Amino acid sequence: MRERPRIQDDSGESPALGVLDPVDQLPLRVGLAAFDSEAAAPRVPADRAVDFGQRGPAVDARLTGAEKVQIRSVEDENGACLSGHNVPGYTTAFGAATKPARAAGRSEIGRAHARLLGQILLEAGQTTLETLERALGRIRGSGERLGEALVAMGAVASEDVLRALAAQANLPFLTRDELPTSIPILKNLSPQYLRQYRVCPVSIDGNTLTVATADPTNLLLLDDLRLSLAMQIKVAVAAPEGILEAIERTYTGAATPLQRIVEGMEDSGAPGEGDEDVSHLRDMAFEAPVVRLVNLIIENALGAEASDIHLEPFEDALRVRYRIDGVLYDQEAPPRRLQAAVTSRIKIMAEMNIAERRLPQDGRIRVVLHSRRVDIRVSTVPTVYGESIVMRLLDRSTIFLPLERLGFPPETQARLERLITLPHGILLVTGPTGSGKTTTLYAALDKINAPDKKIITVEDPVEYQLKGVNQIPVKAKIGLTFATGLRHIVRQDPDVIMIGEIRDLETAEIAIQASLTGHLVFSTLHTNDAPGAIPRLQDMGCEPYLVSSVLEGVLAQRLVRRICASCRAPYEAEPSDLVALGLPPGEWRQALFHGRGCAECRGTGYRGRLGIYELFPISEDVRSLILRKASSGELRRYATENGMVTLREDGWAKARAGLTTVAEVLRVTQEES
Ligand SMILES: [Zn+2]
Repeated sequence: MRERPRIQDDSGESPALGVLDPVDQLPLRVGLAAFDSEAAAPRVPADRAVDFGQRGPAVDARLTGAEKVQIRSVEDENGACLSGHNVPGYTTAFGAATKPARAAGRSEIGRAHARLLGQILLEAGQTTLETLERALGRIRGSGERLGEALVAMGAVASEDVLRALAAQANLPFLTRDELPTSIPILKNLSPQYLRQYRVCPVSIDGNTLTVATADPTNLLLLDDLRLSLAMQIKVAVAAPEGILEAIERTYTGAATPLQRIVEGMEDSGAPGEGDEDVSHLRDMAFEAPVVRLVNLIIENALGAEASDIHLEPFEDALRVRYRIDGVLYDQEAPPRRLQAAVTSRIKIMAEMNIAERRLPQDGRIRVVLHSRRVDIRVSTVPTVYGESIVMRLLDRSTIFLPLERLGFPPETQARLERLITLPHGILLVTGPTGSGKTTTLYAALDKINAPDKKIITVEDPVEYQLKGVNQIPVKAKIGLTFATGLRHIVRQDPDVIMIGEIRDLETAEIAIQASLTGHLVFSTLHTNDAPGAIPRLQDMGCEPYLVSSVLEGVLAQRLVRRICASCRAPYEAEPSDLVALGLPPGEWRQALFHGRGCAECRGTGYRGRLGIYELFPISEDVRSLILRKASSGELRRYATENGMVTLREDGWAKARAGLTTVAEVLRVTQEES
């Protein structure tokens, strides 16, 4: 004998064991679902686990073979739903005793049904008496149903069995064409659930929902629908193929996931905008559809490999844009009436003050989505139409790459590796915001990181945590700036210092001082090209003799979009683009590539990015040029004449290699000319 199953009542608490007898006489209907585990779906056919109607809830839980049986509903003869505890005669002693008499009764009912089905099929001329006898012989003792047996024997088409089942139960049968093109969407019904049970809503009339099912004998399913939707359920029969088609048409068709969430929100009485008080904002922010909507916006951004999400309010619309590979793309946006809810949700996630809507705020979100840890820096600024939000997705996998994978030309890489292993001096990486400077510095630190070196950084913010490196985040509010941080870390006896950015003379002077006292300093500057770093430092007020004695090299860089590998194709570049790149005419004949656009790259022709670089090592000649206060033009001329590969030259080499396009190289280097 099997171990007695545990039976759990509706409250989800106090699992009880016992015998069902006390309620045997009551005209009750019990809906039962058997679960192998909490998450699993009911897997026991209604006619095996439950006696519906007539004689009371004689439940042979042992028949279910399930670990746990959950009482889903108990109702009286009028169909009124009673909770487990106020059913007359109900004790917590729902039980597992089998009554042989009842078991016999059930099988009699089953046989009567089978005969009826057979009769219908016979009358419709769809089977013969002989076939029917064989099928009945086959199902004897097997637990198979007559209809299943006939289909398995190839004697009757499954649709004909379904029609007969419908006729037997006096239910309408719907053909494929009679099912709706788009099924009604109910917010408590997921497409997964509908697919699993091959059931779909057909129409709604007041509080009555008509559903099509391929198994009208599955009363558990119908009970489950009635309870979870709190609606009356009318049943029609349809073939499972047609039902699945209708589900797919609806859920993978015109409506996007965002539209489906938003539709659900209309039904639930959507929050408007205006002067909601804070507790109302908070309530809205915790509503399930709002949570799902914001998660979806973040998930989609991750899926598109976006670096930023921009949520901007305008007079009549909310705009959502993703920055993907450095370029902004418009995205599907929720309607403006959800602005207050969405904004509040994001602010709560970022631990901001939701009552404050007139001042800019900064925050940070740490979430786990699909087992991926995501750090998001959030900033809000008030605009005339409400708060504009930018979310920066800090993805560890894109911010950190080893030096070898950054796409340096071999010679540049060898030079750079020499520079980052010097005992002291300053190495600068230059370029506009978003040109990958931080990624390069992290890769450099990682390359030289070893137990015999002490490395300290001051960063704004710390975007990636390097093992064994002391990283200090800038906190301007409390006076911890690049300059103050740097002043203090020099006393911490580091070998290598990385300072996020040199923005002012104070920071520049401390960096120079640090390198003069035997430290190697890495930092960044905003200049267009590598030689331009020298006049920039002098403009800040740095003494040329100091700059010339400590500066060891300047690396300028940009990120270009990589051609999508799935749709790369040769094409003819615009001659004007080639001229703009300053190419010698002989090179124009070479095959160039672009991406035609495909699903992989969302039609953009690009996927991912790579760096283009220009490294300017500071030779003795350059030091004397610095002392002479040479102009940036002079410095640049000297650099190119002495073999410096420029950003455009490196970009052109990567375009010829089919990695990026000429247009991309021009786009990211145009400010130079
Ligand atoms: Zn593509």
